[in-house]
Amino acid sequence: MSCLFCKIIDGSIPSATVYQDDLCYAFADIHPQAPVHLLVAPRAHLVSLDEADGEHRGLLGHLLWAAAHIARAKALGKGYRVVINTGDDGGQTVDHLHVHLLGGRSMTWPPG
Ligand code: 5GP
Ligand code: ZN
Repeated sequence: MSCLFCKIIDGSIPSATVYQDDLCYAFADIHPQAPVHLLVAPRAHLVSLDEADGEHRGLLGHLLWAAAHIARAKALGKGYRVVINTGDDGGQTVDHLHVHLLGGRSMTWPPG
């Protein structure tokens, strides 16, 4: 398996762990775009949201729950942004599904 995030999840590439459970692994983004910039990835390899189907509904809900759980633990009560870049036009650069959790500053809209 040559997937970067699979290697991070299995520990063969080091990362700053923020949260983990049986379904997901959360870690600090190596190039943070906000004071808090974390990634929540499923332990199971899934290329992108575009690959998700009915069997993944529970997992997708779990990833969003984990993001909210982490946001509360990080005291992001003023708000935060959750992003899932998907495919080339979506700006996805790592082909293992992940949720970005960004916070600690005011966000702008529209995104680039
Ligand atoms: P994407 O562009 O696919 O939505 O997000 C990929 C994210 O992974 C980027 O924000 C990038 O900074 C982060 N990233 C890429 N390589 C590494 C790495 O080796 N370690 C960590 N912690 N984050 C990475
Ligand atoms: Zn993977």
